[in-house]
Amino acid sequence: MSVINRFKTLETFQPQAAKMILNGILNNRVSHAYIFEGPKGTHKLATALLFAQRLLCTNPQDDHEPCGVCSNCIRIEHNTHPNVFLVKADGEQIKKDQIKNLILEFSRMSVENGPRIYIIDEAERMNQDASNTLLKQMEEPLSDIYAVLLTTNSNALLKTIVSRAQLIHFKPIARHLIKETLLEEGVSPLASHVIPEYTNNIDEAKKIAQSKDLMSILEMVIELYSLSGKKNESMVIRFKEVSDKILSNTATMDFFLTLMILFQKDLLNYKLRHLNQIVYVSEMTEIERIANNVSQKSIQSILEKMLALKTRLRYNINYALAFDLIIAQLERGMH
Ligand SMILES: [Zn+2]
Repeated sequence: MSVINRFKTLETFQPQAAKMILNGILNNRVSHAYIFEGPKGTHKLATALLFAQRLLCTNPQDDHEPCGVCSNCIRIEHNTHPNVFLVKADGEQIKKDQIKNLILEFSRMSVENGPRIYIIDEAERMNQDASNTLLKQMEEPLSDIYAVLLTTNSNALLKTIVSRAQLIHFKPIARHLIKETLLEEGVSPLASHVIPEYTNNIDEAKKIAQSKDLMSILEMVIELYSLSGKKNESMVIRFKEVSDKILSNTATMDFFLTLMILFQKDLLNYKLRHLNQIVYVSEMTEIERIANNVSQKSIQSILEKMLALKTRLRYNINYALAFDLIIAQLERGMH
């Protein structure tokens, strides 16, 4: 179930967007075309579905909330309502036929009474022909048809399309809200603190929390640091045992390195007594132990090397060697 099933919830995540959409509904001035513009993972699609539920709900609550339990609300939630049509890119592009198909679908008599809403996800992927076909529809709108175009960049849409729509901005979701969402979904406090530092895309954050591979990388970072400064343990050897998995692709490498950087920053913040900025709050005892055994200069020097490696990750370098060097430096620096 979508987390955004009420405007009241949307107000928490996207106060401005919620206000603009609600104003239209409460003042009977709903626009026939909206553009929801904002980065990925900002609840644009969920909001479009909420809007559709509000328009089709047979029993709205308090004047503006969809009830969530009528047949219309439920079918929209399950993407099975014939009056709500979602267009997604077929491969890289949204093609003319997809838009023609949408218009054809909505002109059929079999569609149920009441408003009809089409949602175009990643609308910036419409090619020229598709855009022109859509524009024609927008110029001669059928009554009771509403368009919601979702995009990361409204400048990539035809100006004539943008001028016919109400533009609503979606902002990146605040870290603490992503953290709270993860906690509510049963993600561990450790992961719920760390993941929002990696991404402010709420969908990506949830995917990471559900990925066993990525969560084992988080555990590995904690384990590696736990070995530092211990006489009979070696970070280098432990890293060698798991490095194949970590270095298997750029995504896992980037995740691993970012989590290492966050831990290294925590050590620095501990030294600087910026305790409220510490990310791995559940590891405070370890952070304290490690930070007390190492100089601030050494922490900073390794942090700089990690940051430098991060900018080089997209180039075709010898990753295995680069990571080995960092871990070796880390181990030396911690003694
Ligand atoms: Zn309803």
